[in-house]
Amino acid sequence: MLPADLHAGYLAFASGRLSDEQARYATLAEEGQRPRTMIVGCCDSRVSPEVIFGAKPGEIFVARNVANLVPPYRPDGEHHGTSAALEFAVLALEVRHIVVLGHARCGGIRAFAERRAGQPSPLSSGDFIGAWIALLAAVEEREPARPEQTAAEHARRLEVASLGQQLANLRSFPFVRSREAAGALSLHACFFDIASGRLASYDEATGALALLEAEVRPRPRLVAERC
Ligand SMILES: [Zn+2]
Repeated sequence: MLPADLHAGYLAFASGRLSDEQARYATLAEEGQRPRTMIVGCCDSRVSPEVIFGAKPGEIFVARNVANLVPPYRPDGEHHGTSAALEFAVLALEVRHIVVLGHARCGGIRAFAERRAGQPSPLSSGDFIGAWIALLAAVEEREPARPEQTAAEHARRLEVASLGQQLANLRSFPFVRSREAAGALSLHACFFDIASGRLASYDEATGALALLEAEVRPRPRLVAERC
């Protein structure tokens, strides 16, 4: 049996959103998905891309992993889940946008910073997650720890600096690089502050964040036909 909260949640979905959107589901089943945007987000349960962007079924293609990382292009025959999702989104779905969604208080990035600071960690570099967040070493080169900083402060800077590294890693994939050069694909990054619920866009040129307007206005559709 499912956990009771999931069962109750499904019943609420079936009697609410599903009944409201039955036609959309039927169309998506018949015609397949055609999302225009891929999101690379963190597994963190507080940072749901569908919730933050108010997305409906079929509108965004989401790959989530610990610390919203994009591994560098490495076609070595190993099992690369995020790379596979990226390949499918770009080559099969032909998404027009890829958005890396970072967030504050990221446990994966915090664990990396704490280990770097020599603090006890439940993770070892031999664990799956330890090996995964070792990808942040490239970010640390951009944003090294400072003696006056705590691990938490360093983590906060890594959370933002990581966005630039993930965009660079996206461009290590030839099919991303070529489509971006052709103007068929745009790369973006943004940052979600969990405590305030505010979203900021990341400026790749300066490494700065700029808060998005939060005033209520009608929401344009995220999804359109392929163009
Ligand atoms: Zn996270």
